[in-house]
Amino acid sequence: MLLHACCAPCSTSVIERLRSEFHLTTYFYNPNIHPREEYELRTRQMKEYTQKVEVEFIEPEYEQERWFALTQNMEMVPEGGERCRACYRLRLETTADYGARRGYDYFATTLSVSPHKNAQKINQIGRKASQKYRIKYLETDFKKREGFKRSVELSKSQGLFRQDYCGCIYSRREREKRKKTDA
Ligand code: SF4
Repeated sequence: MLLHACCAPCSTSVIERLRSEFHLTTYFYNPNIHPREEYELRTRQMKEYTQKVEVEFIEPEYEQERWFALTQNMEMVPEGGERCRACYRLRLETTADYGARRGYDYFATTLSVSPHKNAQKINQIGRKASQKYRIKYLETDFKKREGFKRSVELSKSQGLFRQDYCGCIYSRREREKRKKTDA
């Protein structure tokens, strides 16, 4: 299985759950992450974690310009709306495309482990990508059955840093705003 991985903390419980059933390769395609230093930090952490748990890791190109072009004029769309759907679509379609070309049987994503993300929307996009690229998609809601809680426990025990914004420049701005309001 080619597993789209959004970050190391979210991947912990997903890898734990899937590895008994699938031979996993993680695919770190996340051009949404901003700025570059944050991208590098999350990539490094993901790479180190996969080495530790002995799971393959692939880092494709960091296509930040592609992500910005796709989400143009969506700056003000609130989190969870159309901008996020476009962001999921880009990441899932790129994973499905790569997986199909390399002969993987399945693809999936860690995204649904987050309590802030709607698994139905993610799975809808995954199903469409599955049809488009002709590769099976594993429908999931990894936050269920204590999946998110388990990811927090594992991240703590492994000393993984958990970021406090989703990833893109707009979610980062939202985080800054929240901090100011809370201060
Ligand atoms: S908030 Fe998260 S899912 Fe939505 S566009 Fe930004 S990085 Fe992508």
